Amino acid sequence: MSSAVAPKAPIPDIASHITYAMRTMGVAPIPRNYELFYEAYIGSNPALTKKLASYGNSISQDELDAVAAQFFGNRQLQVVDNAHIRIVSELEAIVRLLKQEQNSLESYNRLLGETCNRITTKSNASSDILQNAIAILAKATGDTMAHGERTVESVSQKSREMEQVRQELDEYKRIANTDSLTRLANRRAFDDRLAAVYDGPLNRHLSALILADIDNFKAINDNYGHPVGDKILATVATIIRTTVPHDVFVARTGGEEFAILVDGCSEDEALQIAERVRTTLASTPFRNSKTGIDYGPITISLGVCMGAEAEDPGDLYGKCDAALYCAKHAGRNCSVAYENGMKKEFSKSWLIYKK
Ligand code: GH3
Ligand code: MG
Ligand code: MG
Repeated sequence: MSSAVAPKAPIPDIASHITYAMRTMGVAPIPRNYELFYEAYIGSNPALTKKLASYGNSISQDELDAVAAQFFGNRQLQVVDNAHIRIVSELEAIVRLLKQEQNSLESYNRLLGETCNRITTKSNASSDILQNAIAILAKATGDTMAHGERTVESVSQKSREMEQVRQELDEYKRIANTDSLTRLANRRAFDDRLAAVYDGPLNRHLSALILADIDNFKAINDNYGHPVGDKILATVATIIRTTVPHDVFVARTGGEEFAILVDGCSEDEALQIAERVRTTLASTPFRNSKTGIDYGPITISLGVCMGAEAEDPGDLYGKCDAALYCAKHAGRNCSVAYENGMKKEFSKSWLIYKK
């Protein structure tokens, strides 16, 4: 399938939307504000989106931090702030140590120079003078070596502390890339991973994107409430994660939407993965054993598009989204492969998978 004739699907440029919203509200363009607006924009937590929207066009930094604390907890900000403070203080300590080491070496050099001078200018230097000079040099050498050893020990200690900070920052990065409800990768991690498909000239040819959206999910929330909806979302996420192969990337990209990125596969293989997810979910019972309420069947619609059929990450996402849209219009609970020229309009000729 070629992508040459296909009209370009709208490219979701999240960054510009977020930057525009932040600028309009006079919000400082710093990472923690961006993070807040990012989560609000992708709608991972509808209450957060509502809360930020309620401030209209003006919100102070204190209010932003309060919203972040309410929805993320203070943990993420604290990890970064603490790491920053510790890195700065460790680096200052290392600079101080190296300065001391430099002073020690300079005075040792000076002493060495002066003593040698004294010996060489006095050609008839007595053995007393020579012995005295040797004693001075031996002591200075011993002191300098001891100082050097202390410096090495202190710098090693600082390196261990820096390593600990690095581990904390790795943990922060993991948290920042994880969706808190489902524990899957979040939209931010997905965007990075999707961009990587177009990093090398060959990657895209054997990469497939699958977008999946739970069917009629609003009715679940309306009928049983948001907390039940959340539990079902988490269960669906687990089913997707455990149904696809281990090395396949799975993310929650928004409310009840998921993305699956498969490397090294053909379109048929990608469709098989999509179908396995769909059929596994459709056959999973969603029955509350305490109340006896049956929330099921829960079904999902999926769109599939190969990396080779798109020009860039936005194009791939748009085309895959068009395939997903077709799956919805074909009656939901099915998988649709992108076809050249497919748009967000329904046509019966599309390849629809539903057994
Ligand atoms: P369709 O089959 O066309 O996808 O219908 P739908 O009802 O699934 O789609 P729609 O976009 O109308 O509704 C999606 C719903 O998902 C609305 C929103 O309340 C719900 N939702 C989004 N994020 C969350 C969440 O984090 N938790 C819960 N419980 N619901 C969520
Ligand atoms: Mg849906
Ligand atoms: Mg949706």
